Amino acid sequence: MSTETSPSWTLDPRLAGDTVALGDLPLSRALLMNDANYPWLILVPRRPHLVELIDLDAAGQTMLMGEIARASRALKAVTACDKLNVAALGNTVRQLHVHVVARFAGDAAGPGPVWGAVPPRPYDAAALARLAGALRTASLSTDRSALRHARARATVGSRRSFPMSPRPDLGPKPRLGYTASLIERASERRNDEAFLAALAADPRAGAYAIAGEMVVLKAGAERHDPLFRLDEVAALGRQAETVFLGLMDGAGRFGVGLDPSVVETLKAQPQFFVTDLRSIAVQGLVDADHLPPIAEAKAMLHWHARHRFCANCGAPSRVAESGWRRDCPACKTTHFPRTDPVVIMLAIDGERCLLGRQSRFVAGMWSCLAGFVEPGETIEEAVRRETREEAGIRCGRVRYFATQPWPFPMSLMTGCHAEALSTEITVDRSELEDARWFDREEVALMLARRHPARLGTPPPVAIAYHIIRAWVEDGDRVLG
Ligand SMILES: [Zn+2]
Repeated sequence: MSTETSPSWTLDPRLAGDTVALGDLPLSRALLMNDANYPWLILVPRRPHLVELIDLDAAGQTMLMGEIARASRALKAVTACDKLNVAALGNTVRQLHVHVVARFAGDAAGPGPVWGAVPPRPYDAAALARLAGALRTASLSTDRSALRHARARATVGSRRSFPMSPRPDLGPKPRLGYTASLIERASERRNDEAFLAALAADPRAGAYAIAGEMVVLKAGAERHDPLFRLDEVAALGRQAETVFLGLMDGAGRFGVGLDPSVVETLKAQPQFFVTDLRSIAVQGLVDADHLPPIAEAKAMLHWHARHRFCANCGAPSRVAESGWRRDCPACKTTHFPRTDPVVIMLAIDGERCLLGRQSRFVAGMWSCLAGFVEPGETIEEAVRRETREEAGIRCGRVRYFATQPWPFPMSLMTGCHAEALSTEITVDRSELEDARWFDREEVALMLARRHPARLGTPPPVAIAYHIIRAWVEDGDRVLG
């Protein structure tokens, strides 16, 4: 389950000859004695020149003990045995190897004659698969944090060391962008035309003006104001759809789509500030409470702009339910707005995490890997698939962290932490410019914008910052 092997490590031919390989644990290769009369596992640490248990350093010994415990659990899980005999050997075969033998409590000499006393009986494929599966399951269900820490210590000499600094105080947790909307959506009133007309006539009604990727703001000295009165927004230029976003303190809030052709005209007028939503969020150009309704408006208006014709018959469709549905007058199909699920995840290997870079990122920025969930796939499966595809890393446990609406154009980001089961990175260059492991101390400096080489993470408005920060602050506990 790891690729951390030494090129000089070889399995003694006598061990290989007597056994079948079941798979690799982080430290050891797991073998099964090739005789189905006796459930008998052998673990061989993949380190060169080991003969005795004491040849392993302390961290390696801790790690091996964890692997013995896991292998023992697997063996008990697939046999009727209730006792396990464990021995570390290196006498006859001069390579450290650990025998884990399933027995019955109270037996003096095992479940029958000892090894070699009866003709060996080969395992059938189903039994082998069951044992290999149990080994994997035990590996996944065990608390691996101690093992991971031991492994990090065991391998620290072989990795690039980073100058240790005191962990910076990251301060209070900033707000995640586009979340915690104060809007009451009042979805039950979307067909109530009298109610909506009264809201629109109320002078407290406000609208966000969206022109494609751009948001129109009223220019201000410090912060800009994104909210227009309905008569003001009507004067901005040619309008597309309008969506009823909901209520704010009883007043109506609307998203108004403007034809993108108006952008250049408005940009030339000093009373307006026209820019994209990412810049608004990252630079804090408006009060943070406006970000969720702007995200809601932008995603909805993008959906309208791309779905003006019926997907079933091709006829022009009509806006219904205050912008929350489109109806086809020809074939009567109703169309609802979409949200595309995306997974965004941090793979963790003990004291290291996996970060990647896309070529479009600003210089020095590293972030979580991410990708769209595919039809027929769970969040957990998508996390494992994307991490394997983009970086070649296999993942086991996946833990949900939080979600974030991501109106670029209309996604929902599902943030997760994932336990890495392998460590050798293979970057898919069509997706990523690079990917590598980062130590926890180094990532803390990146979050705090104090990295000596000016490497950094995404800003707090993005869920990636919060996923990464949770791991820096809580370590393996994020994996549950
Ligand atoms: Zn139709």
